Amino acid sequence: MELKPFEKRIWLSSPTMHGEELRYMTEAYSTNWMSTVGENINEIERIAAAKIGVGYAVALSSGTSALHMATKLAGERLYGKTALGKGALSGHRVFCSDMTFSATVNPVVYEGGVPVFVDTERGTWNMSPAALEKAFAEYPDVKLIVTAHLYGTPGRIDRIREIADRHGALLVEDAAESFGASLGGKQTGSFGDYGCISFNGNKIITGSSGGMFLTDTKEDAETVRKWSTQSRENAPWYQHEELGYNYRMSNVIAGVVRGQLPHLEEHIAAKKAIYERYRDGFRDLPVTMNPFDADHTEPNFWLSCLLIDEEAMCCQTRNDSAAAYTKEQGKTCPTEILETLAAYRAEGRPIWKPMHMQPIFKANSFVSLEGEDVGADIFRRGFCLPSDNKMTPDEQDTVIAIVRKCFA
Ligand SMILES: *Cc1c(COP(=O)(O)O)cnc(C)c1O
Repeated sequence: MELKPFEKRIWLSSPTMHGEELRYMTEAYSTNWMSTVGENINEIERIAAAKIGVGYAVALSSGTSALHMATKLAGERLYGKTALGKGALSGHRVFCSDMTFSATVNPVVYEGGVPVFVDTERGTWNMSPAALEKAFAEYPDVKLIVTAHLYGTPGRIDRIREIADRHGALLVEDAAESFGASLGGKQTGSFGDYGCISFNGNKIITGSSGGMFLTDTKEDAETVRKWSTQSRENAPWYQHEELGYNYRMSNVIAGVVRGQLPHLEEHIAAKKAIYERYRDGFRDLPVTMNPFDADHTEPNFWLSCLLIDEEAMCCQTRNDSAAAYTKEQGKTCPTEILETLAAYRAEGRPIWKPMHMQPIFKANSFVSLEGEDVGADIFRRGFCLPSDNKMTPDEQDTVIAIVRKCFA
């Protein structure tokens, strides 16, 4: 097959709209519910809480703000209220996923906490329960865990929950990428004391932006509603006893989310078909797909990723701002494949660079099993494939052919 650049760019993961979004946005407009209250917000909170199986969902401006509220609440529950200007986690260590988007861990720092990064397991590419046990042996005083489910694949959140309970620790669950994914029939986002999902533009369900805070506790949901709307007290004027935030979702954004929500299962089915087509298309190459536990979990297949076998890796070097590689026959690397995809106007992406490798966190501890650094290895050999659910099977076959070419 002769390969030509795509006429229309192939995206990593772009919004897939259906029409109902516009109807609900228009409804917000025509009824003039254009601020942070309205029917769209009420409805999506009800629908999301029911879908995920939690008592309460609070619609916020982003997944990051939801994680911030979750982290702050956990800090106050653990250590009490602090003096003004001092974060709720001030000086306290927090166990965090290492290989993840920085938004998982930044809120810990907003609240003055000190992230201790816990290495990744090979079976799910999420926090390793074994490394977490080791982290508790090393830092027995830690009382909070923040863990993410990457690329739509549930981590071993049942085991992490059990470890947290055994050590009397709270759990914040970052399900930003895994809305609709489940473990043992239970939705991600419902295992933590507090959970979050994101409606950012490239997530499986989008509002263009937005997120949700999840909890089973009415009081905590009410606290987040209050904090996220500038912490106004019940008084005839603007009365403040606590620090406030402007984190509430707009009713217009909520209209987009409301129109998207009925399509969650359809989006997951499309993502799953993409994952399976890649898996079949790469079957004879020295690669594996991002793994999941087929017996216990149902991923949402948000992004399809590849890991190149060590034997098939050519020489690749990366510093803090650039990457280079030396071509070798029959071998390749993420850098060559991502550059080649880009040349054909298809968008891939490196794996999330582990937090313990980030300059900003160079002073923070990292706990891994003896002699291992699983996150660094997956970052070095792995990458995300174009996973847009508007990509046609023909287009995907071309992507597969472009990637295969790199192994020649
Ligand atoms: C997208 C994402 C977030 C943040 O969500 P926003 O809505 O973009 O703020 C947090 N954690 C992970 C793992 C994400 O992928």
